Amino acid sequence: MRLQFHRRTGIRLLACASLFSLTACADTPAIAQAEPVRPAAAQPSAANVMVEPVVMQRSFADWRADFRAEALALGIEPQLFDRAFAGVSPDPDVIKADRSQPEFSRPVWAYLDGALSSQRVATGQRKLAEQRTSIDAIEQRYGVDRHILAAIWGLESNFGQNMGDRQVIRSLATLAHEGRRPAFAHDQLLGALDILQHRDIEPEQMLGSWAGAMGQTQFIPTTYNEYAVDFDQDGRRDIWNSSADALASAAHYLQQSGWQPGQPWGQEVKLPPSFDYALADSSVRKTVQQWADLGVTDIKGTPLPANIREHSAALLLPAGHRGPAFLVLSNFRSIMRYNNSTSYALAIGLLSERFQGGGKVVAGWPTEDRPLSRSERTELQTLLTEQGFEPGGIDGIIGANTRTAIRRLQQQLGWPADGYPTPELLEQLRRG
Ligand code: CA
Repeated sequence: MRLQFHRRTGIRLLACASLFSLTACADTPAIAQAEPVRPAAAQPSAANVMVEPVVMQRSFADWRADFRAEALALGIEPQLFDRAFAGVSPDPDVIKADRSQPEFSRPVWAYLDGALSSQRVATGQRKLAEQRTSIDAIEQRYGVDRHILAAIWGLESNFGQNMGDRQVIRSLATLAHEGRRPAFAHDQLLGALDILQHRDIEPEQMLGSWAGAMGQTQFIPTTYNEYAVDFDQDGRRDIWNSSADALASAAHYLQQSGWQPGQPWGQEVKLPPSFDYALADSSVRKTVQQWADLGVTDIKGTPLPANIREHSAALLLPAGHRGPAFLVLSNFRSIMRYNNSTSYALAIGLLSERFQGGGKVVAGWPTEDRPLSRSERTELQTLLTEQGFEPGGIDGIIGANTRTAIRRLQQQLGWPADGYPTPELLEQLRRG
């Protein structure tokens, strides 16, 4: 019996970073993640912050008893539940990882250096040759480019070598009991029990990252339940031990995320002088032809390819107007369904080309524009708010509203309006 509690999550709970805070994670070093947006931190005042409210935390045993009753009511077999939870206690390392909010962030160029290392490229090329028969069949079945699949495999788990070695039930039970997003972890835990009940994997072998991302594809349980496939037809959807199952599961996920067979992810481009950088926003989509009409060319200055002119694309400036520019097509968004980070999707696109001898970024990175720290980002938002630019909440996360606020300020200053937060911009705000 299939349980009926799966939700479409769209993105995976992965690890630890927002768009520009690409901090390495315990089990999945090369992955960035969109952080959950928390309520704005109100400035303390005598009126609203006198005493920290005391939250009564249920004991793990009480939580487990309630959760067991709920799981059984949803159709989980009592013996399976008890076996899965045998000896399970809260994992303090998981709590520590869940609560860590790194102050400093890796710049996108440093993240890409790690993601596109020569070792990862060489291993990927070898794996593509070794797995050629199954990859041929997977590409045929799902229409997703083999080099993209290999890039995902390489970034998610270093081709199956780094899948995380924590018990998924223990990690998710810890997070459901006392994590920052207990409802999310609760749903993932029910999803994990469903996987066990289908005998895809034994409880002892169901290992993953601290956040519950599993196997060679680092799927969370709800993603697994929707997209994992038994490609090698041995009766189990085994993304841990079967690379054919893992690659086909990733291909199925991308296919269902709108992958367009035969279309590229995007490419590096060159912008004309005095370009309006406010157009570099994921919400501004134009056909490649329209971008060409605005003077955008390929990186060598020659015209954009004729065979993609009708496709819709957005302009991406991952490090602001001083850094490289990319036109990204709809497949870039499909990759972001896998992991909601433009840096991740860019790394996947470039790595897929490195496997074929390309994928070098031509324009230089503005290494003098170091990423703002968490407290600097919070200060930036506070100052933007005080000076009337309305960045939305003050949460240290540079989202769409903050970018729009930065553009307003840049336009007022007569600076290129790329929406990119820099130390220079923060300095300007401090001067008022
Ligand atoms: Ca299988």
